[in-house]
Amino acid sequence: VISPRAADVIRSIRRGGIISRTDIARLTGWSRAKVTNEVNRMISAGYLAEVGEGLSHGGRRPRLLKLNPGLGFMLGVDIGATSLDLALADAAGRIIKRCAAAANMLDGPERTLQQVAEGGLELLRETGSRPEQVISIGVGVPGPVEFSKGVLIAPPLMPGWENFPIRGYLQETFPASVVKVDNDVNLMALGELNAGAGAGIDNFIFVKIGTGIGAGIVSGGQIHRGSSGSAGDIGHICAERNGPVCRCGNTGCLEAVAGGPAIAARAAAAARSGASPNLARRLEANGGVLSAEEVGAAAREGDRTAIEIIQASGQIIGDVLAGLVNFFNPSLILIGGGVANIGNQLLASIRQAVLYRSTALATRELTINYSPLGSEAGVTGAISLALDYLFISGQDVER
Ligand SMILES: [Zn+2]
Repeated sequence: VISPRAADVIRSIRRGGIISRTDIARLTGWSRAKVTNEVNRMISAGYLAEVGEGLSHGGRRPRLLKLNPGLGFMLGVDIGATSLDLALADAAGRIIKRCAAAANMLDGPERTLQQVAEGGLELLRETGSRPEQVISIGVGVPGPVEFSKGVLIAPPLMPGWENFPIRGYLQETFPASVVKVDNDVNLMALGELNAGAGAGIDNFIFVKIGTGIGAGIVSGGQIHRGSSGSAGDIGHICAERNGPVCRCGNTGCLEAVAGGPAIAARAAAAARSGASPNLARRLEANGGVLSAEEVGAAAREGDRTAIEIIQASGQIIGDVLAGLVNFFNPSLILIGGGVANIGNQLLASIRQAVLYRSTALATRELTINYSPLGSEAGVTGAISLALDYLFISGQDVER
């Protein structure tokens, strides 16, 4: 637990790798004596280590400071509905080892988190390290999270996770760790902010399109979670008043109209009606089920119906994003998630709809692209979250 000014110093080192005492004085406004004092305290607390020598401008060569690599490890955890991604990183946030496994959130929190703990222990064993050396854990989950408590609130179709103490469960295996839990899309946005296309961009939105649709919002260079943590839950914005029933119980929600299952259902109907021989062939080859990925493959082969289904979905998503653009004025929208890679028609239709419906001033500096981190975004963001909350002032950690 360190002071907010000292946290500024550490954040600056995270960005640049190293820092000099002169830079610390400039950054914090501390006097020379105070810099010496604080640096000595942070070295003896194990946060900082001295490294080599900086450029001399005459006189004694200044010693530089970096994060102490022996401080411990971070664990990044990205829990998806059907998969699990883990990464072990050093105190500077560099990923050392990773693993992925199939998982099923419907098995309930104990089973899934036991898999997380076992996976983390395995990564530590491979590096010859102990569970006590994990000092911070970031966890992403696919549902609404009350961020201050680190618990899921009313997750659709995963009732067993409601209010489950994820933090306490993982601390039984990793007793020295700070554990922070966040919505997976927020972590994808955080990953892009710290290590991807969002670096240096103050206002952007990450949109995840998969079974559900959600958004992570970066406002003023920070994740905007809203007053209770549910900001960005755009999948349940009404897109078609009398549309299909959503898993949340309402009708016509964006994700029910335009998400992966909606794309697959429309394609299956087209296959059965004879509108698309390509989709009909795929439907039969897959035992009567179609996935959004199959629709993407048909579109890549030039199937007209598949292309139109994807375009329709992109248009509906784009209409909702246009509203967000008018409201929030981001300079970047990144599209990710499992359905994002089904074809360029999706991105093209989203762009077209956003440009058509947003005001000229709002779109003047707006870029819309696929997420460059892709499936890595979640676990990268989980490590970032772990780092952010390791080095933050006391009251925030306990909040
Ligand atoms: Zn809904």
